[in-house]
Amino acid sequence: MSLSAEEGKQYFYPNRWARIVLESAEEIIGDKGVAALLNLAGLPQYIGNYPPDNMKKEFSFEDMGKLQQAFWDMSGARGARVFATRAGEKSFNDGLKSFGSVAKAAQVAMKIGSLEKRMSVGLAFFARFFNTVSDQVVSVDENENEWHWNIERCPMCTGRKTDSPVCHLAVGVLQGAFTWGSDGQRFRMTPVKCQGMGDEVGVINIEKKPL
Ligand SMILES: [Zn+2]
Repeated sequence: MSLSAEEGKQYFYPNRWARIVLESAEEIIGDKGVAALLNLAGLPQYIGNYPPDNMKKEFSFEDMGKLQQAFWDMSGARGARVFATRAGEKSFNDGLKSFGSVAKAAQVAMKIGSLEKRMSVGLAFFARFFNTVSDQVVSVDENENEWHWNIERCPMCTGRKTDSPVCHLAVGVLQGAFTWGSDGQRFRMTPVKCQGMGDEVGVINIEKKPL
């Protein structure tokens, strides 16, 4: 059952993103680990047969939700959190290689101003990129102390019902992006709302002051 507000509609991630997530997972838990994960997720068709390396929107949010749920079932909430964060960060870094021109454009946009200003520009750029190439819908706002990454349509908790936020893959991707954009600094990020918990919009808080 889909928990999204837009019941009945199907949304997709580009094949390459799902492929990068699976390849990143493979580097962490090995190909046998990923096979076990895909079996557990009820997605055996992807074992040894990852989505093709193209940007067609064909990997459904339902399948991404199942994959995330399987991380949870396999390693427990805590392990899944650590794993999803790592896989997300790795996905960003691997993604950089296949999105060289996008990364360059982001770097040009982020050239001027304070660290805070540059990260604000980069974050908005990143949100637009997400919204353009996938069916995910995100927006960004900020106050004096933090940015908010608002996930209005979320592939990570599609079809899931949870007690705590489960969008840690997004946290990892954002951590990768912030480390990259700030020349290696780390920022505290906390998912505070999640559609899987019944919130209307998922929210990840990002503290502006680096750690
Ligand atoms: Zn969520």
